[in-house]
Amino acid sequence: TSTIDTAALHDWISRFAVAMNDNREWLTELDSAIGDADHGANMARGMAAVVDKLDAGAPETIDELLKGVGMTLVSSVGGASGPLYGTFFLRMGMTAGAVPTLDAASLATALRAGLDGVVARGKAEAGDKTMYDAMAPAVDALDSTLAAGAGLAAALVAAADAAAAGRDATRPLVARKGRASYLGERSAGHLDPGAASTAILFETLAAAAQ
Ligand code: ADP
Ligand code: MG
Ligand code: MG
Repeated sequence: TSTIDTAALHDWISRFAVAMNDNREWLTELDSAIGDADHGANMARGMAAVVDKLDAGAPETIDELLKGVGMTLVSSVGGASGPLYGTFFLRMGMTAGAVPTLDAASLATALRAGLDGVVARGKAEAGDKTMYDAMAPAVDALDSTLAAGAGLAAALVAAADAAAAGRDATRPLVARKGRASYLGERSAGHLDPGAASTAILFETLAAAAQ
């Protein structure tokens, strides 16, 4: 498939919600090492609220779907991750527009807008040990794989692989943003929880597009 429609993106969100619930304890364990032990709870609660909202009425356009996801996350998650993921989905939806389908290039553009929103909100740079360190490599890999002629499904698998590699690469880093930065050097040696949830975000997107 060379396009992705609202139903497939809805499937992505549903899969991400299930995965946040399934990985709740792992994400919280990661956050207990370098944060305040609530990332799993934050993400599971936020995505459960998203599912409740979507169950009440499935949106027909991609902007309606993603803006709803973003607004629900902003309003239901108190931690740093709520506004950051919320901004990601809001910007992605705004950029996608009121359309029922996106081609590969438009999806890549929308995802990059989401990434830019995370940066605008949180000011993270590469190597700060945040969700950016999984998200930016994923968006870059999507662009470069599509440019090399890959189909959308394959390019999204490459993006998911890059996100996972980015997550793993956060382990030795010293955090420079968020709560983990309060630990200074002691934040090294642990995966960043937000990079871990972002790797799952791209894994579930790839799964929804196969
Ligand atoms: P809180 O830190 O408020 O408890 P969470 O535990 O839900 O919120 O989320 C923590 C994650 O948020 C971190 O692991 C990191 O990936 C991400 N994060 C924190 N601050 C920033 C930032 N300024 N930019 C990007 N991501 C950030
Ligand atoms: Mg936390
Ligand atoms: Mg917190």
